[in-house]
Amino acid sequence: MPIYDYKCRQCQHEFEKLVRHNETPVCPACQALELERVVSAPGISTQKSRSYTHGIARKAANSVKKEQDHAQREYERNYIKDHS
Ligand SMILES: [Zn+2]
Repeated sequence: MPIYDYKCRQCQHEFEKLVRHNETPVCPACQALELERVVSAPGISTQKSRSYTHGIARKAANSVKKEQDHAQREYERNYIKDHS
């Protein structure tokens, strides 16, 4: 299940929400339904939050890379096993 960042259009409250299928998120501060999904870092205010988000993105990219390497090794091992 994906976790999305939202920003409330009523009170500007920002929060993360785990959204289940067909579920409509509601602002936890004012219960408004008018939420904006915050997709990525550009436009978000402070330098600190930008570098923080950037660090997370880099960490995620690294772990994807690791998984790909692992899958590749697994594939090669099975291939050798099947063809020897
Ligand atoms: Zn709100």
